[in-house]
Amino acid sequence: IYILAIESSCDDTSAAVLCNNTKLSNVVAAQKIHEEYGGVVPELASRAHQQNIVPVVHQALAKANIDKKQLSAIAFTRGPGLMGSLLVGTSFAKSMALGLDVPLIEVNHMQAHILAHFIKDENNLPPSFPFLAMTISGGHTQIVVVRDYFDMEILGETLDDAVGEAFDKSAKILGLPYPGGPLVDKYAQLGNPKAFSFPKPKVGGLNFSFSGLKTSILYFVQKMTKDDPNFVSEHLNDLCASIQYTIINILMDKLKKATKQTGIKDIAIGGGVSANSGIRKALKDGEKKYGWTTHIPKFEYCTDNAAMIGIVGYLKYKQGIFTDQGVTAKARYVI
Ligand code: ATP
Ligand code: FE
Repeated sequence: IYILAIESSCDDTSAAVLCNNTKLSNVVAAQKIHEEYGGVVPELASRAHQQNIVPVVHQALAKANIDKKQLSAIAFTRGPGLMGSLLVGTSFAKSMALGLDVPLIEVNHMQAHILAHFIKDENNLPPSFPFLAMTISGGHTQIVVVRDYFDMEILGETLDDAVGEAFDKSAKILGLPYPGGPLVDKYAQLGNPKAFSFPKPKVGGLNFSFSGLKTSILYFVQKMTKDDPNFVSEHLNDLCASIQYTIINILMDKLKKATKQTGIKDIAIGGGVSANSGIRKALKDGEKKYGWTTHIPKFEYCTDNAAMIGIVGYLKYKQGIFTDQGVTAKARYVI
């Protein structure tokens, strides 16, 4: 089975080809333009997708050494995401499936962040059901119990900002360019995580809140720069390390709670923030400390990519779950 997958939910245009559960190609065109604005500008994202989609799909087919006539189905991200961005991928996938006369398969982007673990990997075994997934990305922070490929239930999620936003907004306060998450990670590795302490939110159950953290970082930085205008540049590593440490603690506390509540110790993380080195380490440490079995995606499958859409396409193809041509993009789309 050859699946061509298309992802265009936010600011990365991506296309991938899978042969069954094996990735043959996974091309990602990131959009530089948003850096200038300190965040994703939806109108510009949509326009860039329109420019990128044809060359990206061509490249994905060429790298996989596959002719489009060999394709078994076209999978695409239906949502959640930015409407203007989703529309580009959705319309492209629909017309390509129509033109080639192959089935069309719609994919939920957040399910894909979780099911990316089922892309064949020589070095790692996929999680076994039931497992807990923590999806940590630019738009979401969720703890999900995964009973089967398409039987998922959200146990807790953020009530305000997503964890990726917490990273990016903190980075912005420190004067770092967008997206700041990877930079906070980089500087954190050189700093002392206990140099500064920030309050943890008091949210019940398995839900999260990150907007208070951002505000307390802002006030703290404003106060300190009043006395010392160079405070941030002099303490950048320690600030990043302390912010990251606080975020990791918030995530790990809830994860511990979720394992206790469900009795499930098989844990998979997904989404862009699972690229974070501190989070990857904390999760690994949980294996010894709490007897967890952890699944950490390859970097390539953490941030937005079409290979994860392709694996969902393959899993749905096997179950005969197809979509008709009447399908439309869905900006809000719960797993
Ligand atoms: P969603 O998946 O919720 O729709 P998205 O697709 O925009 O959102 P992703 O591409 O999955 O989000 O993740 C992007 C986020 O990941 C950004 O906020 C970015 O800063 C963050 N991120 C990427 N790498 C790291 C890292 N090493 N440390 C911390 N954050 C990171
Ligand atoms: Fe994403």
